[in-house]
Amino acid sequence: MDWTRGHTIGRGSSATVSAAKSIWCDQVFAVKSVELSESQLLQKEQKILSQLSSPYIVSYKGYDVTQEKDKLMFNLMMEYMSGGTISNAIRKQGGRINEQLIGCYAKQILLGLEYLHSRGIAHCDIKGQNILLGKTGAKISDFGCARWVDAAERDGGGAAGSVEQIGGTPMFMAPEVARGEEQGCPADIWALGCTIIEMATGRSPWTDMTNTASLLYLIAFSGESPEIPRFLSLQAKDFLYKCLRRDPKDRWTAKQLLRHPFLEESYSNFMITQDFVTSSPTSILDQDIWSSDSMDHYLIRTASSVDTPLKRIRELGSNSRELNCKWNDDQRWITVRSSRSE
Ligand code: ATP
Repeated sequence: MDWTRGHTIGRGSSATVSAAKSIWCDQVFAVKSVELSESQLLQKEQKILSQLSSPYIVSYKGYDVTQEKDKLMFNLMMEYMSGGTISNAIRKQGGRINEQLIGCYAKQILLGLEYLHSRGIAHCDIKGQNILLGKTGAKISDFGCARWVDAAERDGGGAAGSVEQIGGTPMFMAPEVARGEEQGCPADIWALGCTIIEMATGRSPWTDMTNTASLLYLIAFSGESPEIPRFLSLQAKDFLYKCLRRDPKDRWTAKQLLRHPFLEESYSNFMITQDFVTSSPTSILDQDIWSSDSMDHYLIRTASSVDTPLKRIRELGSNSRELNCKWNDDQRWITVRSSRSE
C-alpha cells in the first residue's frame, strides 16, 4: 500500500469515501472503499470510470486491494473534490443557488453528460448529491448506477438474457424509468431538469409526497412534470421545459441543450472560481460541512422479476427505507437499484 487513509469524507449506501495521501508525495486524493467480497458494484464503477477522461467528470486515479484490520478492501481512487456536493452548496448558500450560477453548473453537468452519452454511457443517478464541486466548478461523480446503453456490446453490461438493473433515485426518475420501460440517456436529461429545480428552490422536484410508491405512480402515470419555479427567467424556464418533457423522444439531448440560449450567455469559469473561493472549504481539514451529507443517502437493491409497471412500482416502493426518508426534507433522497430478468 503506497498511500495512507485519512478521515472519512462521505458515506453512501454502498461504500465509504475517505481522504487519502500518497506516501511518495503530498498528493491528496479520495478513496471509495468497500469490502472485497461485496465490491461487485464498486468494481463495475471502477471499470466505467477508468475509461473516462473529461474535465467535467471526477477523474480516475486507479484502484487496488488492501488488507485492513483482517479485511480485504477494494479501493477506487479518484480526484479529491474539496467543495463537497451541490446539495451542500445549496444549504451553504441559504437554501438556493442564484440563476447565473445554476447556468454555470448546468452547463458543466451537460458537458459531462454529452461526453458520457457520446460514449454510449448513461449515468442513471444525476442529482445534487452526485455532483461534486472543485476549483473549476462542477463534476459528475458516483457511477454506481451507470450503465452502457447498448449493453449487448459490452462485457458484463447486462446483455440480453442476463439480469439487468434499473436504478436511481425516485425523486429524480424519469417517467419511462418509473414505469420500468427503459433507462437511457434521456433519463439523465430529465434528472438534470430535476437537479436544476433542486438548485433553484432548495426543494425536491416533487413536493408533498408521502411515500415512494405514490411518488413513483405519480411520475409514471400522472402525465405531470415537476413544477417549474415561476421566478426563473423565461430562458431558464424554457430550458427546463425541454429537459422535463415526459416523452423521452421529445426531450432535448445534451448536445441540443448546450446550444440553448439559457447557456449561450457563457458564464465564465472565473465567476465560478470567485464564488467557490468565497464560500467553500480550501483544504481537507475543512471537512465538517460534508458530514451532514454523508449519512442521508441510501441504496436499496431488490432482486426479483417484475412483469408489469405497477408491480415494479410496488416493489421499488416497498423496498425503500421510508422511515429514514423525510420527503419534505429535501436532503434525504434515496438511490434505488432493482434488478429484473430480461
Ligand atoms: P450511493 O448511496 O449513491 O450509492 P455511494 O456509496 O456510491 O453512494 P458516493 O455517492 O460515490 O457513494 O460518495 C459518498 C459521498 O462521499 C459523496 O456524497 C461525497 O460527499 C463524498 N465523495 C465521493 N467522492 C468524492 C470525491 N472524489 N471527493 C470528495 N468527496 C467525495
